[in-house]
Amino acid sequence: MALIVQKFGGTSVGSVERIEQVAAKVKKFRDNGDDIVVVVSAMSGETNRLIDLAKQISEQPVARELDVMVSTGEQVTIALLAMALMKIGVPAVSYTGAQVRILTDSAHTKARILQIDSQQIHKELKAGRVVVVAGFQGVDEAGNITTLGRGGSDTTGVALAAALKADECQIYTDVDGVYTTDPRVVAKAQRLDKITFEEMLEMASLGSKVLQIRAVEFAGKYSVPLRVLHSFQEGPGTLITLDEEESMEQPIISGIAFNRDEAKLTIRGVPDTPGVAFKILGPVSAANVEVDMIVQNVAHDNTTDFTFTVHRNDYHNALQVLEGIARDMGAREVIGDIDIAKVSIVGVGMRSHAGVASRMFEALAKENINIQMISTSEIKVSVVIEEKYLELAVRALHTAFELDAPAGKGE
Ligand code: ASP
Ligand code: MG
Repeated sequence: MALIVQKFGGTSVGSVERIEQVAAKVKKFRDNGDDIVVVVSAMSGETNRLIDLAKQISEQPVARELDVMVSTGEQVTIALLAMALMKIGVPAVSYTGAQVRILTDSAHTKARILQIDSQQIHKELKAGRVVVVAGFQGVDEAGNITTLGRGGSDTTGVALAAALKADECQIYTDVDGVYTTDPRVVAKAQRLDKITFEEMLEMASLGSKVLQIRAVEFAGKYSVPLRVLHSFQEGPGTLITLDEEESMEQPIISGIAFNRDEAKLTIRGVPDTPGVAFKILGPVSAANVEVDMIVQNVAHDNTTDFTFTVHRNDYHNALQVLEGIARDMGAREVIGDIDIAKVSIVGVGMRSHAGVASRMFEALAKENINIQMISTSEIKVSVVIEEKYLELAVRALHTAFELDAPAGKGE
């Protein structure tokens, strides 16, 4: 007998019929003898609908009130699911975040969980009930309702699993697991049986949107075994784990992530003197713009070029700041480019294999794709390329690193 936390996302509880399907699924596990805690999101679209309502009153709604309102989305689905469970003979009870006492800080709309009182839940489980808990919400010390940021129900699920010392946290969603890359780009992408937390974090931060990043961080920190599964199809899903077992069949690269959300800025002809990087990036960071990749070229004639990438939303802001700096420093010019994309190969296997980066560059060279920037970490190599080559690059790399599904499998 195991204790399992199951989280169902918005599309999985998007209608009464689906909620009844979820109830049937939960019942199966329970009939198996497992103790089940279920975390649910609001019905799909509901959180957006509520936020829209608030925006009709004010462009910048008061965060405390916004939380009072958006938390209602999950309050509806917990009650419906508890009813659906009882209808098929499964004793169940629903709890809001505040009722469980998911204690958070007071940072409305992006609160962090501080502590979870697991006593009540354990009591309910002992009494034979399935406990249905609202995702995405908590309560602060003063009793104000808080929310954890968009996609926060994943974090609720993981945090509950950690607090309850659950055997597994299962995240049910509309895909059947984590893929080697986006199957919409590469038809031969494959579901991974396993991926490490570290790899998953890289994949998630590089634009693979299966799980909220915070939830993955949390699960890694507290060693909560996490599994991503399809809500309505059978299958083993993808297990996200701590162990990096080395096996012969284990590919060096686990996945290829990409991201179109960046823009590139270059300031040309800056003096090659100490403090230049700080003079450029200091004001950029003071303008609240986060910088991702940075490259400074080798100097000639005592001047150099300095290039970095930012989120596309910050591009105009960063450009303005940079033009001011260029004027002050007497730099030659500032150039910007938003038609770029970042492609990354991710895998813990890189730690023990040499030549991974050059294999990547070779695959891109064969396709005549120019690399504009490169950055590496222990388990990742990223390149910036022209956006129009993104799909070609991802496909080429997927093949080069032997990630393509064998014919007949996948599609
Ligand atoms: N309902 C919230 C949202 O849409 C939380 C979640 O679904 O995880 O962001
Ligand atoms: Mg979600």
